[in-house]
Amino acid sequence: MKTQFGGQKMYAAGKWADRERVIEVRDPQDNQLVDTVPAASVDDMLQCIEEAKEGAKTAASMPVHERMAVINKAADHIETNLEEYAYTISREGSKTIREARGEVYRCIQTLRISAEEARRIQGETISFDQQPGSENRVGYYYHVPVGIIGAITPFNDPLNLVAHKVGPAVASGNAIIVKPATATPLSALLLAEAFAQAGLPPKVLSVITGYGNEIGDALVTHPAVRMISFTGGLEAGEEITRKAGLKKISMELGSNSPVIVLEDADLAEAIEASISGAFSAAGQNCLSVQRIYIHDSRIDSFQEGLVARTKQYTVGDKQSELTDMGPLISEKEAIRVEDTVEEAISRGAVLLEGGKRDGAFYTPTVLTNVPEDCKIAKEEIFGPVVLLYPFEDFETAIEKANNVRFGLQAGIFTNDVRKAHQAIERMDVGGIMINDSSDYRIDAMPFGGMKNSGLGREGIKCSIKEMTEPKVVCYKL
Ligand code: NAP
Repeated sequence: MKTQFGGQKMYAAGKWADRERVIEVRDPQDNQLVDTVPAASVDDMLQCIEEAKEGAKTAASMPVHERMAVINKAADHIETNLEEYAYTISREGSKTIREARGEVYRCIQTLRISAEEARRIQGETISFDQQPGSENRVGYYYHVPVGIIGAITPFNDPLNLVAHKVGPAVASGNAIIVKPATATPLSALLLAEAFAQAGLPPKVLSVITGYGNEIGDALVTHPAVRMISFTGGLEAGEEITRKAGLKKISMELGSNSPVIVLEDADLAEAIEASISGAFSAAGQNCLSVQRIYIHDSRIDSFQEGLVARTKQYTVGDKQSELTDMGPLISEKEAIRVEDTVEEAISRGAVLLEGGKRDGAFYTPTVLTNVPEDCKIAKEEIFGPVVLLYPFEDFETAIEKANNVRFGLQAGIFTNDVRKAHQAIERMDVGGIMINDSSDYRIDAMPFGGMKNSGLGREGIKCSIKEMTEPKVVCYKL
């Protein structure tokens, strides 16, 4: 079944609702209208928060076996309708159909893990008698849901990153209101449909479609919303953090991830991993490989191999099974990437491959000799561009890899255990991959960044910890 242009409704506190004012969802590769969704108002958001108060009570009172059953049923629904979900991701966003299927598989995993983790939300007994005078006390602590969670999500994984918030929220007995990215709201609505079909009680989940700069503040600043779980760019993340006030905040932000290739690396493996790490999802991935530091002794072969593989990377129609890379999310974004590359070239960077734009498409691009104070060397490019730097001394490579304001993940290719360990200890990142690129993740692992890449961790078990708070119980005997 394919999504038809028909006017999608948003999922407001268990009811499918439309509005006169709509947002047009367009396919970035040809600008065709895919569908419309309601442009919710501040009043819609406030009303939804009011209803979520009741939803939070319902969610908290659901027995764990019911939470597990609902989440697993939602996963079953997605599994049964996998092609529809994949088509929607690929149509509204910039992923190829193969990449979109990969995201649906991961979303199913995310939900299944959430269901499993629901049964492992545990506390501890407390030895009150360690304190003189407390000998006659016994007790424990356990984890209770925070209540209402406001989730704000980006365009680049429009299904699985929403599932990373909804799955753990339902597993831990919270109500959740999702504000998906305006460019890609349809996949989030399909996730809501899966939960509605699975029998999640009304008011526990809402997916409110609307512009972040119009309805975002109502969600972020509302005192009844006890946690904001945000995934997106640094600028919006900082603004939300400033405005949120006294509530829990989880921030999954961007990066410009480094990879280090040492003299003993398996070059073929390093090149393959760097290609997919740099160019999958057209480089619009928070873990994208952006800066590669290669030992002097291997730079020529690495460069030659990487450029040869880049030339083979096919760019084109997202719906073709043969396409490796689709467009960026919009022509505006492709122009931003083009301008940033041109600025580097005007400052002395050498273009080894790519650098061509056609509408929202931008070819996979390899640059070398990029001055370290260029925007593209310091900031997140969020496009299919990778920078190559030779190095002589390992210590200097680590220092340069660290010398940015982000720190999400990194990769290092080597079989030298001591050097790998040195990198593990010295690199300021939330995750480091040995013999793989920065772009590796499973949905069950702790995930998040240091420095300006974020605050807190996702990965189901960690998300549940963030979405709950300990409550102490003490019996005086
Ligand atoms: P974005 O522009 O920051 O938008 C993300 C979400 O925030 C959207 O739903 C947006 O709504 C909303 N928003 C923007 N300004 C807001 C405000 N003032 N108040 C409330 N909501 C607001 O990011 P994006 O372009 O969609 O995504 C790309 C970024 O996400 C990259 O930096 C990438 O690295 C990061 N990311 C991080 C992770 C991670 O796990 N660390 C994963 C994926 C992506 P509108 O769409 O309506 O503007």
